[in-house]
Amino acid sequence: MPNPPGNPQRKATPAPASMRSTATTSAQSTGAYVRGGVLVVRDGASLPDRCIRCKAPAADGRVTKRFAYNEDESGPGMGTFVPIVGRLFWITWLFNRLNTREYLTVSYCICTKHRTIKWLAIAAMTIGMIAGTIATVMGFANSGKSPANPRGEIDSTTIIIGVLIFFAAALCGLAISGLKVASGTTNVAELTGAGKPFLESLPKFSKTAAMPRY
Ligand SMILES: [Zn+2]
Repeated sequence: MPNPPGNPQRKATPAPASMRSTATTSAQSTGAYVRGGVLVVRDGASLPDRCIRCKAPAADGRVTKRFAYNEDESGPGMGTFVPIVGRLFWITWLFNRLNTREYLTVSYCICTKHRTIKWLAIAAMTIGMIAGTIATVMGFANSGKSPANPRGEIDSTTIIIGVLIFFAAALCGLAISGLKVASGTTNVAELTGAGKPFLESLPKFSKTAAMPRY
């Protein structure tokens, strides 16, 4: 989506310092608040200069991320249970879903420590999944008849270890923290993945409060 000329909040660059000092105390100027333990942001929100995980000052770790989400998460519906026709339903639903995707851009900070943890977790996940795959393949390769294995016994130990390593690594991947869209409507989305200290520093709105208008 092109940047409309009259909408400077879409720019990736952080707001001037004079604006940011007020941004940490006002929901209206950051475009973010906390509701029921989740971060609610509007498009173009610029979160305070604090790590989203631990609230440590992290002005130099500012990143701008574009989140894609769908307003309708209800899925393709019962029609997909009908053979063949169901496929068409599903394909139609998928195309429609891609067409109706919404995007919003949020600028936030993450400290060096939490950035490092994230990259280590990604590295551990990648290496673990590769190692697990190799071990599984080796297990199957060992299962064939060979001089070392004349009866062609299945090397189940290596296969099981390989599969376990693979899934353990995949679970590491789930633990990788980052902001994710939980739900969204036009220009406003609920994000999960922010740390409790950070959430507690943001303005709160009660669950019954109406969504503020921007
Ligand atoms: Zn941090």
